[in-house]
Amino acid sequence: MAERYDLIVIGAGPAGYTAAIRAAQLGLKTACVDDWRDEKNQPALGGTCLNAGCIPSKALLESSEFYVLARDQGAQRGLKFSGLSLDLGAMLAHKDKVVSDLTRGIATLFKVNGVTWIPGRGKLLSKNRVEITGQNTQTVEAEHVILASGSTPVNLKSAAHDGRFIVDSQNALAFEAVPKRLGIIGAGVIGLELGSVWRRLGAEVLLLEAQEEFLSIVDEQVAREAHKQFSAQGLDIRLGARVLESRVEKNTVVVRYQDKNGEHVEKVDRLIVAVGRRPNTENLFAPETGLLLDEWGFVHVDEHCRSNLPNVYAIGDVVRGPMLAHKGMEEGAMVAERIAGHVSQVDYDVVPCVIYTDPEIAWVGKTEKALKQAGEAYRVGLFPFAANGRAKAMGNAVGFVKILANAETDRVRGVHLIGPHCSELVAATVLAMSYGASSEDMALTMFAHPTLSEAVHEAALAVSGRAIHIAQIKRSKP
Ligand code: FAD
Ligand code: AMP
Repeated sequence: MAERYDLIVIGAGPAGYTAAIRAAQLGLKTACVDDWRDEKNQPALGGTCLNAGCIPSKALLESSEFYVLARDQGAQRGLKFSGLSLDLGAMLAHKDKVVSDLTRGIATLFKVNGVTWIPGRGKLLSKNRVEITGQNTQTVEAEHVILASGSTPVNLKSAAHDGRFIVDSQNALAFEAVPKRLGIIGAGVIGLELGSVWRRLGAEVLLLEAQEEFLSIVDEQVAREAHKQFSAQGLDIRLGARVLESRVEKNTVVVRYQDKNGEHVEKVDRLIVAVGRRPNTENLFAPETGLLLDEWGFVHVDEHCRSNLPNVYAIGDVVRGPMLAHKGMEEGAMVAERIAGHVSQVDYDVVPCVIYTDPEIAWVGKTEKALKQAGEAYRVGLFPFAANGRAKAMGNAVGFVKILANAETDRVRGVHLIGPHCSELVAATVLAMSYGASSEDMALTMFAHPTLSEAVHEAALAVSGRAIHIAQIKRSKP
């Protein structure tokens, strides 16, 4: 007889493992099926995020930043390093250890919470039957199924991966040597993060971006500042550049691309394709289940992640919305709680987004462009890190915090940050927006001195023209 569960989760990335753990906490008999294999061909939990995404990329970003600080800023802070050199092998080994510690941590969490981990490939056969192909094939039954199969890098016909010279983001986290000249197709979040890592380690980096506008998803003022800073770091960003062909010739990748001035040819030692990700739905379900996909190939779900099949849910990168680990985690917890009979929902209006470059870029809520398009009147409060004591002390007084508040109600509608540790600073603003705060609420809150977070406070004060540490025209009478 087939083993029966209350819940089967297909996929153990951040969305799937969160759903499984939360369901088990709530007393559901839960199994999680996942087909990820590590470099030793062993099953590993954590999906893309832990094994080939968020975590290894941040380990390399942190280490490479450490290297650049020692190399470029040590002397002026009174620290003289003699013979400073890069041991890429050790840097990669550190990254791999961070990954294996964390993936093993998820295995421990599964164990202590009583989640059954089934390595193998899951396929939905009907609304409550899942076929699992691993060492052997078995069919398990469940009252509820959650699809959390994640996403995979998009391939380009004009730059077919060969795993060595033309690679995806996963291979680009493990180059065996620093490429002398690195090409990246796509100057989006992943392209910029990977480009920053290898630039800091010494590569010449060329980014070819099809769009004319740099970082069109972020606030325009932030994008302008980012472009200035990244260019100063030596990232060669070419906009409106559409790649036509890439071929490997004598250990070099020859890239042909087109922009408004015509066709160009560039030679690079390695080429990363970072043009986005697509949902993993191939072979995920038998066609006779009738599971509905949307027009872009994502599993079609409602705001509670319910698919068109009763008791079948989908979460994370395989459904609509930003492809972010924390968005998937929140969906995982919500669905587990709803299955257990709780009232739970995700507030999609306050999903924080971060680009972990230097300076870091973070935002939540609406951009000025979106507010203008919607005809919503707003006020802006902006505060530069150049006027923040802690940022000065850190030697990193770049960027600003910008708060957008509704002109009538003063409710905070969006916060846009660029500068040091903005990935952390955005959290306070997410909390404020989640509670429906006004800019005045934030202005009346006390922030510790000297901290970077004071820039958030000052930006809130600036909305009503009363920031202390910048000259503001007085707009309101006492
Ligand atoms: P995934 O993490 O993709 O996990 C899905 C799992 O399901 C995988 O293990 C897969 O092998 C398995 N699977 C698929 N199909 C089946 C099947 N049929 N049967 C069994 N198992 C299956 N996001 C952030 O929020 N912050 C970041 O800093 C960040 N950095 C990133 C950096 C890089 C280089 C990349 C590539 C991504 C990054 N992301 C980041 C995105 C983040 O990794 C994804 O949003 C997140 O992993 C999605 O989680 P998920 O659980 O939906 O899917
Ligand atoms: P992201 O969605 O953040 O991963 O970013 C992917 C980036 O790749 C976006 O900025 C896209 O505009 C860009 N892109 C997509 N297709 C191409 C292409 N063929 N050539 C160059 N850039 C591309």
